[in-house]
Amino acid sequence: METICPECDGPVAFDEAPMEGEIVECEECGVELEVTSADPITVEVAPEVEEDWGE
Ligand SMILES: [Zn+2]
Repeated sequence: METICPECDGPVAFDEAPMEGEIVECEECGVELEVTSADPITVEVAPEVEEDWGE
């Protein structure tokens, strides 16, 4: 099963059915995608999480 990356229009393949809310990485462009729907598989570019390990 696969879907289309909204960032680069490349194929995003899944070994098994993803769960809603799962974060996957597009192999084509490396962007992080959040699964917004499991059936049919729909993904959106995940908001960039700023690593804030500061104080
Ligand atoms: Zn992509």
